Amino acid sequence: MRIIRFSPGPDSGLGTDPLFGVLEDDATITIITGDPIYAGIQRTAAKVDLNKVRLLAPVIPRSKVVCIGKNYADHAAEMGGVVPDEPIIFLKPNTSVIGSMDTIVWPKMSDRVDHEVELAVVIGRLCKDVPIERVNDVIFGYTIANDVTARDLQKKDGQWTRAKSFDTFCPIGPWIDTDFIPGVQKITASVNGEIKQSAHLNDMIFKVPEIINFVTRVMTLLPGDIILTGTPAGIGPMVAGGTSTMTIEGLGELTNKVSRI
Ligand code: MG
Repeated sequence: MRIIRFSPGPDSGLGTDPLFGVLEDDATITIITGDPIYAGIQRTAAKVDLNKVRLLAPVIPRSKVVCIGKNYADHAAEMGGVVPDEPIIFLKPNTSVIGSMDTIVWPKMSDRVDHEVELAVVIGRLCKDVPIERVNDVIFGYTIANDVTARDLQKKDGQWTRAKSFDTFCPIGPWIDTDFIPGVQKITASVNGEIKQSAHLNDMIFKVPEIINFVTRVMTLLPGDIILTGTPAGIGPMVAGGTSTMTIEGLGELTNKVSRI
């Protein structure tokens, strides 16, 4: 099931507050009651046309975005590092999250802002110390993320907080798929239509079960928290005034303009 969050538009008669819905086909949304991560998926009778709404980030985490670094061997190599023997984790603030078609704002502090396409896991329930065999109990679904990174500041600072944390630096979407099972799906990133990253999800060093087990041995995860599972080789700068598109086979396309506003 594909869960979307959207702004219904001034002429819809549905008000102006963000709503959640199930994308039934490629055109029709059935509106659901409340936030499905907390309230479950409760369909109403109301339907709306996908083309008449504005998509929003499908979830805004109430607490955190946890990210995995160097989780594809070819990317670890291009960063000049060795393959880690356990996951490297860092955080992005929830204030960095935006949706598909929103604009990534290029900060004045940086001369190089990179794309990093990643599979994102949306957590569905409070959890701690999750055993490998029980990770499916805590996953709400999957979406696509761009772990936008000010590469020059990452190198200059020697740690990653500033480089990863600017507002708009965590586009996610276009929706959450609650049935997706990570396997051999293709994952790509392109800048102005030119493919820059291309790999498969099974190239990940640490797979989703190991990641959730590891992260929850460190910190409690809350409903709506997101885990970004790392990016493959081919990272590089986006273009101010251009467009970046992240894809994962089966999860759609996450497209954002980049602007120096
Ligand atoms: Mg990353």
